[in-house]
Amino acid sequence: MSKIELSCEVFPPKGEDFLEKTTKLKSELKTLKKQGIGLVSITYGAGGSNRDNSLYLVKELQKEGFLVMPHFTCICSSTEYIKNYIEEIKKLGIKNILALRGDEPQDIDVCHLDFKFAYELVKFLKENTNFNISVAGYPEKHPRAKTFEDDILNLRKKVEMGANKIYTQLFFDNNYFYKFKEMCEKYNVNAPIISGILPITNFKQLNKMTQMCHTEIPIKLYEKLEKYQDDTNAIKEIGIEYATNQCLDLIKNGVHGLHFYILNKAESASKILDNIK
Ligand code: FAD
Repeated sequence: MSKIELSCEVFPPKGEDFLEKTTKLKSELKTLKKQGIGLVSITYGAGGSNRDNSLYLVKELQKEGFLVMPHFTCICSSTEYIKNYIEEIKKLGIKNILALRGDEPQDIDVCHLDFKFAYELVKFLKENTNFNISVAGYPEKHPRAKTFEDDILNLRKKVEMGANKIYTQLFFDNNYFYKFKEMCEKYNVNAPIISGILPITNFKQLNKMTQMCHTEIPIKLYEKLEKYQDDTNAIKEIGIEYATNQCLDLIKNGVHGLHFYILNKAESASKILDNIK
């Protein structure tokens, strides 16, 4: 386990009490740091919708000594806007970035389309910065890709343009991940792959997220969660047990790293880390 990279994803708190929420988040992350989480990635709204909150959190976590990786989406952003953002994070001494396209908005026709796909952003970052560039990968295929093969070829393009690590979409069935890894090997996608793990804590939220991400919930797991859907503690316990077994199986099969989607709460990830150490 010692060689495995451990990281987590958080989102920028918002609302009037975002300062309190940020303080709480920092304390949650300190717990996980002690348990070996080496990097914290910070989401970014497509089209820059939460740019200021995202940058604020990047700055706050850096001040506290966390190694951070801001996400950055390029869809609907002009080249000028992207240049400005890059300058801003360069000034902060950022070394890592997750280069994304972002989901297409409904009114795409009124968007800047200087960058249509993530590989274009990767190329731009490679030419204009010294960042370590990471990109997204989809064990269950990106919903917009025509075929799994097309999606893998798109991933290879992102790596060829300069990305040096792949963070996957969350998944629950490790077989999807193993198939994805096999395809990456077959098509010479030469970058380490970090598995995206969601510790389940809430049934309704899980359904919403998996619909958005097009992630399958294995039927046995689904039935168990459905049975206890109104019992928060039971759902958390099921989530911890499931993710623990999922991580142990990935570790046994030589996974490069685990990236926890913690939804700004450390409790479940912390227990999972204890279980797999
Ligand atoms: P791309 O790699 O550009 O691919 C998108 C799709 O287009 C794929 O199906 C690909 O095969 C297809 N494609 C690529 N090139 C072509 C081409 N030339 N012709 C036709 N089809 C093509 N979203 C956010 O808004 N904010 C976040 O912070 C965020 N964080 C994420 C973190 C992770 C780890 C992951 C996995 C996803 C995240 N997302 C986030 C979601 C992501 O923005 C969406 O999934 C988005 O729709 C695709 O982004 P991408 O970078 O994978 O795009």
